[in-house]
Formats: sequence, C-alpha cells, structure tokens
Amino acid sequence: MARVTGEPGPAVERLASARRALLTSHASPDGDAVGSEIALAELARGLGVEPVIVNRDPMPAGLDLMPGAGAVRLLETVEGDLLEGIDLVVTLECPELDRAGIEGLDRRPILNIDHHRGNARYGEVAFLDDTAPAVGEMVWRMFRHAAIEPSPEAATAAFVALSTDTGDFRYGNATPRAFEAAAEMVAAGARPEQVSEWVHEQKTPGSIRLLGEALRTLELLAGGRVAVMQVDPEAFRRAGATAADTDDLIDVPRTIAGVRVTVFLKQWEPGVVRVSLRSRGTLDVRSVAARFGGGGHTNAAGCTIHGEIGAVRRDVVRAVLELVEEG
Ligand code: AMP
Ligand code: MN
Repeated sequence: MARVTGEPGPAVERLASARRALLTSHASPDGDAVGSEIALAELARGLGVEPVIVNRDPMPAGLDLMPGAGAVRLLETVEGDLLEGIDLVVTLECPELDRAGIEGLDRRPILNIDHHRGNARYGEVAFLDDTAPAVGEMVWRMFRHAAIEPSPEAATAAFVALSTDTGDFRYGNATPRAFEAAAEMVAAGARPEQVSEWVHEQKTPGSIRLLGEALRTLELLAGGRVAVMQVDPEAFRRAGATAADTDDLIDVPRTIAGVRVTVFLKQWEPGVVRVSLRSRGTLDVRSVAARFGGGGHTNAAGCTIHGEIGAVRRDVVRAVLELVEEG
C-alpha cells in the first residue's frame, strides 16, 4: 500500500530523490496524459532528474505539434538497458498500474499521480486528488511546491492537459481552481488559441468521413434520453479511417437536447469492442463501465469488452437503460 498524499510535497520529494525516472500514462493517452507527462518531464529536469517518457500508444492527432511531444517513446515492454537505467516509475492518470499497458513497470518503485476516484493506491508514494480538474493541474501544483518556474513549453503542456480534461472549461470540473491554474499557465506563456488549433483543428479526412458512418448508426432510446452510436470494421474501411480517428465522435450525440447518457462502441480489432460512456448530472456511468470490468468517472467512463459488437451493444444498452430508469 502506498504512502498516500493529497498534497504535492511528498510527490516532489520522491521524484527529486530519483536519478532517472520513467514517466508514463494510460494506453490510448488523452491530452491530460501527454500534457502532464511533458510538463512533469520539465519539472524532473529542474529537480536534477533525467526523465524518459514512455507510452504504449501514440498521442491524439494534433498534440504531436506540442513542444516536447517528440520526446515521447512508444513501447510495450520496458526491459534491458532502459530498465537498468531507471530508478523510479511515475504513472500519471493510471487508476491501476496495468492501465499503462506496458510490461516491466512493476520492477521499479512507483510514484502514482492521479485524479481518478477509485485509484488503487498502488506504488510507493501516491499523490491522489479526485477534486483536481486534471492531472496537469496537479503537476502544476508540484512546480509551485518545488518553486521551479515553468517554461512557456511546460505551461503549454499543462494547459493542454487542463483544457482537454475540462472540455475547454465547459465540464463540471471547470472549477475556480481550474480557472486559477489556467490563468497562471497563460501568464506563464501558454497560448489558448494555439492549443485549441492543435486540439480541435488537426482532424484527418478519415475522421470526418467516419463521423458520417457513425451517424448512420445513431439510435435514440428511452424517450430520447439515451443515444447509442457505433463504428465497426466495415465503417472504418469505408471511411478510410483508423482507430485514432474516433477520438471525439462521442461528443456529437451528447449535444442532442434531452440526451442524458451517450454510448459509443468501436470495434477496430476482431472480437474486441471499446465502449465509451458519457452522462449528465448524477447519472453514474462509471458504475455501468465497472460492471463490464472498466472504470472512469461519474460522467465519463469506459470499458473494453470481448465479443461481437451487436451483442456487446445489446448488453451495454440494457445496463444503461436500467441506470436511466433508476435515475
Ligand atoms: P474514454 O471513453 O476512452 O474517453 O474513457 C473515458 C474514461 O473512462 C477515461 O478517462 C478512463 O478513466 C475510463 N476508462 C476508459 N476505458 C477504461 C477501461 N478499460 N478500464 C477502466 N477505465 C476506463
Ligand atoms: Mn485526466
């Protein structure tokens, strides 16, 4: 069981006592994952620690334009010389260690930094704060604690993390604390218009065509309170799209008046269905995801289910309808 703290101090101290730290985040990283990693890498250097950023999967399209993105290595296993040189693993946004999807991480001491409710409290030190708007904001607090001035690049990376995890400061986690941190990041050199272009205006033609394919499958249930949409391998093929092209498709049905829960299913590999769930208010989609071995937050959760997409759709929809009928 980790030494758990809600304050940045112990995390800064643990990081500072390392020589070479591997920083990682969850598989299929989002803006908070990579933004936090890049910002934390700079903090590590400021503390005299050499950072190595390793993710299993590529970052979202457009974010590769962010300064520092080129330092992210993609690996499924950490071993040999790389592992030998590492004396600390820092996980960002990983409720469980295996969410990183990388083998070998458990062979070094772990500093666990996360804002997910239900983090498994693994590692040697765990800096956990489920009231933080983004892990990027927690990393920002670590800079403040360490009294290290973030560069414009670190401020930009932290702003990528914070702005993406708050849905451009539109979600429930857009708290005063989120805006205070954002003001500091912009003052330190982050440029919102630039970040917005990376996040929203670097789409591939395939992703726009895939939206068309997905919309053909849109179904409204429970009197319009539940929206369900999917993309299967045929849809990917017709659109000329890849798995990464689905990134924000789920946000489209969410915008329909009256929709309380949105379900998005994608099948890229045969027999494996990735399910994304979004909800409004107190409807807890995490509980639905957890029933299928996944997790997440009250209003944004997900799971991976093995099976055929039609059957998975029926099972997940049944669970969501139960939630909506209760709620
Ligand atoms: P996504 O729909 O992929 O954007 O995921 C939404 C949220 O659900 C993420 O921020 C994660 O916290 C969580 N999540 C997604 N997939 C899984 C999974 N397989 N296991 C646990 N949590 C997940
Ligand atoms: Mn996050």
